[in-house]
Amino acid sequence: MEKPNIVYSSKINKIRSFALILLFAGMIVMYGGILTKSTPWLMYIFFGLGVLLILFSTLVYFFIGLLSVRAVPVECPSCGKQTKMLGIVDACMYCKQPLTLEKSLEGKEFDEKYNSPEFRRKLKEMKKNQQNQE
Ligand SMILES: [Zn+2]
Repeated sequence: MEKPNIVYSSKINKIRSFALILLFAGMIVMYGGILTKSTPWLMYIFFGLGVLLILFSTLVYFFIGLLSVRAVPVECPSCGKQTKMLGIVDACMYCKQPLTLEKSLEGKEFDEKYNSPEFRRKLKEMKKNQQNQE
């Protein structure tokens, strides 16, 4: 059986492409407004929707800015570039190399589930137990 070849993209890149899609969608919807200008109410709906989408995309860009501040800058071991990580596991923004901040996860297969709060809690407990044993 063939293994699915999933390329993990960096979370920041993912959100950024989402914001870009929103921006384009907003412009397309507004263009729809120009096409329907013979029907004023339809035109207003299109324009209103377009403005909303563009505003939302601006919000998402703002959100990326906030996230970038919280992200951990690391040097990618694979391409040597400075990249930013969100959460325990993330991918390099440039070469898509999966990266982890957690030593115990090194070498393990990349899995988004490691970023869930549930897993974080488990990890914390694991560390606590280890400290108690020492
Ligand atoms: Zn890289």
